[in-house]
Amino acid sequence: MHLEILGTRGEIEESAPWHYRHSGVLVDGRLLLDLGEREYLDLHPKLVAITHLHPDHAFFVTQEGSTDIPLYAPEEYHNQVQVQALPEQLTRDGYVIRPLPTHHSKLVRSAALVVHDDSRTICYTGDIIWLNKEYHGFLKGLDLVITDGSYIRKGGMVRKDPGTGQLYGHTGIPDLIRLFSEFTNRILFVHFGSWFFKDIADAREKIRALGEENGVDAQATRDGEEVVV
Ligand SMILES: [Zn+2]
Ligand SMILES: [Zn+2]
Repeated sequence: MHLEILGTRGEIEESAPWHYRHSGVLVDGRLLLDLGEREYLDLHPKLVAITHLHPDHAFFVTQEGSTDIPLYAPEEYHNQVQVQALPEQLTRDGYVIRPLPTHHSKLVRSAALVVHDDSRTICYTGDIIWLNKEYHGFLKGLDLVITDGSYIRKGGMVRKDPGTGQLYGHTGIPDLIRLFSEFTNRILFVHFGSWFFKDIADAREKIRALGEENGVDAQATRDGEEVVV
């Protein structure tokens, strides 16, 4: 599997030259995971699977744009674009894509996407607080996890809706490394929050060191980075 990390910037004001574009991971030049920028459509993926309908993962929620490329997300959506709901398992173009429901937002459904081809399995979480234990069985033997770099502090930023008790926000990088180190040796971070832009070299080193403490290879990525799995 050949991956291109198209964008590594979260939904924030800050940016830097290698961390400018919003979420997108291109798999083998033909399967796109998240559509955070309209220009990603110019890469002509055969299929787009979106983790959740926030604008930094699905540009069309707040911007103009249309396409004939099939779009899938955890829930359907129709305006200029037509988004179909992801089935429990989607088999297409040599990939099996399985969305695993995650906790992240009060308003939209979210899912981690487990993508499997003949020989490799990766998981791209999108924004995440947690993934219920009942789904952990689908994470066994992952070759790679790509996940949420919004917060470096343990626990991240998680809030609770006083009415429904529902949690929303993002967990922290230390929590994600602990969770996914059970299932993989390699974790890449995207979707950086403000903390990352204060001192990028130091931020990269913090992620690497947290990985080392947990016996996994953890790295920050940058826009345009190519990854072979
Ligand atoms: Zn986001
Ligand atoms: Zn989000």
